[in-house]
Amino acid sequence: MAFYSIAIDGPSGAGKSSMARTIAEKYGFIYVDTGAIYRTVGLAAHRRGISCSDEPAIAKLLPELKIEMKYDGSGEQRMYLDGEDVSSDIRLPEISICASDVSALPAVREFLLEMQRSMARTNNVIMDGRDIGTVVLPDADVKIFLTASSAARARRRLLQLMEKGINADFDKVLEEIEYRDNQDSSREVAPLRAADDAVLVDTSDIGIEETVALLSSIIEEKLKIGS
Ligand code: C5P
Repeated sequence: MAFYSIAIDGPSGAGKSSMARTIAEKYGFIYVDTGAIYRTVGLAAHRRGISCSDEPAIAKLLPELKIEMKYDGSGEQRMYLDGEDVSSDIRLPEISICASDVSALPAVREFLLEMQRSMARTNNVIMDGRDIGTVVLPDADVKIFLTASSAARARRRLLQLMEKGINADFDKVLEEIEYRDNQDSSREVAPLRAADDAVLVDTSDIGIEETVALLSSIIEEKLKIGS
């Protein structure tokens, strides 16, 4: 049986995860947050005091790690590192930077590729990340590139962190977003870029509901499904 796959790529803070979560629920798809997997590798390196850009040390670490992705009763993706639920720890700002650093390493990308692809072989998925439409699922049925200005993204990220009770200031969040944009777009392996056949959606000036409506119409047209 063939399954549908929807790829959502774009820079951090463009609203990929909230969109993907909403769309997954609306159409009964599984939401795969691939950033969370890179974050788990970043956390593992950070906890062991390994520099997140030390490729030989990280390549050596990878086979020792037990990384699992599970879905809880409400369909929420949880990340486990060596049996421990690390879903909250991977969201800390220092781990965001570390995730971006480790994700630039070819050994890490290769190690995580199969884990991502296998989800799409056995489920209808909506997967978000940086290289889903270009590398992970080049044959995805729908490809969306979601973007927004860096200031708009920093404002949203700040709100998200505050909601989780994490203290942060705007300039620092903006700086972190720009660091990651720069690094994610300029790396040699699987850089952040829109697939040639992706639909570009800029959310700088549109709200959540409008974005959901726009994405839904793109998806329904491509997949010939209704909500
Ligand atoms: O999406 P999120 O911000 O959680 O991702 C954390 C980091 O993981 C990103 O900054 C990016 O460097 C990396 N990443 C990636 N490829 C993906 C998903 C995330 O390189 N498919």
